[in-house]
Amino acid sequence: KAAACRGSWSSDSSDSAGAWEPLYRVVLLGDPGVGKTSLVNLFAGVQERDLLEQRGEDTYERTLSVDGEDTTLLVMDTWESEKRVCSESRLGSRCLQVGNAYVIVYSVTDRGSFESASELRIQLRRHRQAENIPIILVGNKTDLVRCREVSVEEGRACAVVFDCKFIETSAALQHNVAELFEGVVRQIRLRRPGGTG
Ligand code: GDP
Repeated sequence: KAAACRGSWSSDSSDSAGAWEPLYRVVLLGDPGVGKTSLVNLFAGVQERDLLEQRGEDTYERTLSVDGEDTTLLVMDTWESEKRVCSESRLGSRCLQVGNAYVIVYSVTDRGSFESASELRIQLRRHRQAENIPIILVGNKTDLVRCREVSVEEGRACAVVFDCKFIETSAALQHNVAELFEGVVRQIRLRRPGGTG
């Protein structure tokens, strides 16, 4: 699925991405309802009114300037639809093949989704054994303080075991969402040949 949808992030309409500009595919994984679409919409700058028109598009491209350098991310929120199409999975596993980086999302209010995150990490490791791909574990919905089922310490400890980065976010409050995607860019750069990060 290659449908790309440019978010209306900046007010100027120059979208002349130079051909030399690196473009990386970032795949969001996680249980239904944890907030993947909300996070990707914030990344893309998609407003709710746009969503009606853009239904069906689930890949978003945006160029981020991080540490004085531009990097284009193609963020794919296709996990559920692909899993549904073919659960055991040529397509489902395609998701696990195409990413240059992965964001595994759980909800801090849903322990089951935290456990699914572990399973996804294991699946990913199986599919991409030899590769050192960046993975970011994300605990979303931190605004729902009273419903929290997974502590920040558990999230952090899990990331240590998984050998990946960790961040907690709230899509509802737009907290740490920019930091999440900047972190993705930095993790990708660290792994470049010659790796300046
Ligand atoms: P997806 O199925 O993983 O793509 O999850 P969605 O982005 O569709 O979100 C599922 C529901 O959780 C929606 O009703 C969102 O409004 C809500 N949601 C997503 N992120 C947050 C968050 O950070 N805080 C709160 N309170 N609700 C959220």
